[in-house]
Amino acid sequence: MALTETTIASAGFLIDGKWESPNRDLHNVVNPASGEVIAQVPYATLQDVDRAVKAAHNAFLEWRDVPVVDRVQPLYKFKDLLEKHSAELATTLSRENGKTIDDAKAEVRRAIQMVEVAVGMPSLMMGESLENVAKGIDSHSIRQPLGVCVGITPFNFPCMVPMWMYPFAIAAGNAFILKPSEKVPLTPTRACELLSDAGLEPGIITLLHGGREVVDALLKHPLVRAVSFVGSTPIAKYIYATSAAEGKRVQALGGAKNHMVVMPDANIEKSAEAIMSSAFGAAGERCLAGSVLVPVGKAAEPILAALLERCKKLKVGDPVDASSGMGPVVTKEHREKIVGYIEKGVAEGAKPLCDGRDKMKGDGFFLGPTIFDNVKPNMTIAKEEIFGPVLSCIRVDTLDEAINLVNNCPFGNTTTIYTSDGRSAREYATRIEVGMVGVNMAVAAPMAFFPFTGWKQSFFGDLHAHGKDAVHFYTEQKVIMSRWF
Ligand code: NAD
Repeated sequence: MALTETTIASAGFLIDGKWESPNRDLHNVVNPASGEVIAQVPYATLQDVDRAVKAAHNAFLEWRDVPVVDRVQPLYKFKDLLEKHSAELATTLSRENGKTIDDAKAEVRRAIQMVEVAVGMPSLMMGESLENVAKGIDSHSIRQPLGVCVGITPFNFPCMVPMWMYPFAIAAGNAFILKPSEKVPLTPTRACELLSDAGLEPGIITLLHGGREVVDALLKHPLVRAVSFVGSTPIAKYIYATSAAEGKRVQALGGAKNHMVVMPDANIEKSAEAIMSSAFGAAGERCLAGSVLVPVGKAAEPILAALLERCKKLKVGDPVDASSGMGPVVTKEHREKIVGYIEKGVAEGAKPLCDGRDKMKGDGFFLGPTIFDNVKPNMTIAKEEIFGPVLSCIRVDTLDEAINLVNNCPFGNTTTIYTSDGRSAREYATRIEVGMVGVNMAVAAPMAFFPFTGWKQSFFGDLHAHGKDAVHFYTEQKVIMSRWF
């Protein structure tokens, strides 16, 4: 799928090992940097969903009996193909999502790391055993695949987030159906093409495009055993409740509101670098983006000054131009929503130190960085997920006050403390009710071999994405007890 500004690419379906590009119910994919239509994506019908699930189920019945050492072989080839095509994938990703080419390359790298961990499945899915649990009786446990697993993914990590799911699911012996975000279908389509080219059996990876109708049909299909979802909190709740009511295993990762606490003893220059990257990297469209700055005591003036200086120098422009520090946000509607939050911040009495609306230009969906001071915990911009380049500063006097503020937030995805005092860092990490904690980090994103441990309204389920949790999520345990006469 060659993609240039002048080619309208088509992102088709992959069902039972065959690509299909039906010329009906086409939806535009727009380059957020130019506003141009760069592709069209057909939405699946309910009949497409049904035959895709049935084909995946039939493929699973053979795949589960393929030895795990053989099941991971296509993933080794897939990793090679991803490496070979990483620059092309990053360009496609940047074009359809708007993140800078450096951010896109970093995402592709993180995606590849998921495959590198999933190929360890022969060790990862081993069970346990104990002899003589009673006189002459031995017991062992095994892990078996579930069947057809489904993944529904968001717009902001179109390469990496699907790979939190399918390399693990497939290596564990399942068949996987991916329904990526309709806003960014090209990167996941290309990745599925590469996986197919790596020699995966037909039907083990399926790709369908669509919106709510397609999702609902997948959630309700009797042959679907497990659902992995990543997206906003209201939809995560819906997916969790609906899947659970249908008797399916489910993990649903939701939205976030992440706080960055700066202690008076923090290294201001290094912390400012990290906070810039956290708040404004990928235009703030990361579930791990820092969106509330919480300076403690005397930290406020120096950290705000250091951030403002950097915001003035931040180049907002074409994301594929390596000199751009920030690209556009994903859609026109999303930019309007973020601008609505900025207007609300002003109306509720927060003080904009810099205003991203100054950088709205051309036909692309550009928006510069905004920093609000004098934000109070009850203001809308302090409470709701904005998912854009807006940083709200809530000043506090003590570490205790900071901890209470963060613990009162209904989300619990990530938080970071900036300090040069080990005791403050330890106390923060221990007492904070958030699942992923950074100490002097920009983005504390767990590596592929650790789980992605959001808490509270940022996660619904028991087993998290990637790491050993993914192995447990995509397998069922069986305990066998034997006695021989
Ligand atoms: P979204 O919730 O709008 O969409 C996510 C997926 O759900 C898409 O595939 C979409 O087609 C589907 N969907 C949308 N509305 C639906 C409905 N009514 N019924 C069924 N399916 C529906 O999210 P988005 O805007 O694509 O992504 C941004 C959100 O994702 C942010 O809230 C962000 O915090 C969150 N996110 C969370 C994590 C995490 O790990 N917790 C990671 C990345 C993104």
